[in-house]
Amino acid sequence: MSDDPRDELRDLTRDLRRHLEGMQAMGAYALMGEEEEPADAPAAALPAVGERGTLAVVREEVGECTRCKLHSTRTRLVFGVGADETPLMFVGEAPGAEEDRRGEPFVGAAGQLLDRMIAAMGWTRETVYIANVLMCRPPGNRDPQPDEVSQCLPFLHRKIEVIRPRIIVALGKPATHALLSTSAPISALRGRFHEFRGIKVMPTFHPAFLLRSPDRKRDAWSDLKQVIEELERIGVRSPNAPKV
Ligand code: URA
Repeated sequence: MSDDPRDELRDLTRDLRRHLEGMQAMGAYALMGEEEEPADAPAAALPAVGERGTLAVVREEVGECTRCKLHSTRTRLVFGVGADETPLMFVGEAPGAEEDRRGEPFVGAAGQLLDRMIAAMGWTRETVYIANVLMCRPPGNRDPQPDEVSQCLPFLHRKIEVIRPRIIVALGKPATHALLSTSAPISALRGRFHEFRGIKVMPTFHPAFLLRSPDRKRDAWSDLKQVIEELERIGVRSPNAPKV
């Protein structure tokens, strides 16, 4: 056996990679239970570049989905919109009436506010990716139910694997809870970074909530400014000048 510490490091790295690949093959990350993933969850939990597939493949996998009861009341399935390769992703709850009609996320009143939030950050709908936890509208915009989330969430995970953004902004409680596997109140989670499979997650208020409670826009903007700063810190500049 070599005494060279570089050999030892190489062996350790190989063993760790095999271990993670094994865990991933067993779906271990999906089984980790209720707790938020550890802050140092390894980025290697995502497939390597080249094994990630494309959003078109994920869309094909979704197909004309009938996995949960929402298929029988939806008009259109809302897959997601934006750039396939982007450092910045936004995740909301579920399509509303307008999204269900048009087949695109965040195109109603809340969507117009989200567009303004994204623009203030120096990005656009076309340069980020926008998706929801659920791809079909719950009737009457009721909260997503656990069986619906458990059928749809793996596809959100697949989109994240393909896009592999540097930061995900989780809009509101359902998105934050689904991504971080926690049930803590959004007020206790927002304003600081968490991690999902090695990707930074910033929970903030949902734009629909901000339309009802405009006094909280200042807090949301402070969360989004942290996102801009963190992107800049890792060398990602907004395509347009942010309004900071
Ligand atoms: N609210 C959401 O969470 N998502 C949408 O797409 C629209 C409204």
